[in-house]
Amino acid sequence: MALYKHGNYLTQSQDAAFDAVHGPGTAAPHPGIYRCTSCGDEIAIAGGHTLPPQNHRQHNPANGQIRWQLLVYPVQQR
Ligand SMILES: [Zn+2]
Repeated sequence: MALYKHGNYLTQSQDAAFDAVHGPGTAAPHPGIYRCTSCGDEIAIAGGHTLPPQNHRQHNPANGQIRWQLLVYPVQQR
């Protein structure tokens, strides 16, 4: 589970981007921290980079398919 200390710098969001799940090896639609809904592994990724494939380090195939879900989205200043 992701950790943080200064919660006043995080804001809860109902954006649908947090509901979408993405297959292994697909392009991350947003930069941020993603969580595998099957095994709980978390990764940070830049926008447009490829989400880790089926053999990501701790994912046991017995846990089922890797499904990456956006957990934290960074908001950049304009
Ligand atoms: Zn996994």
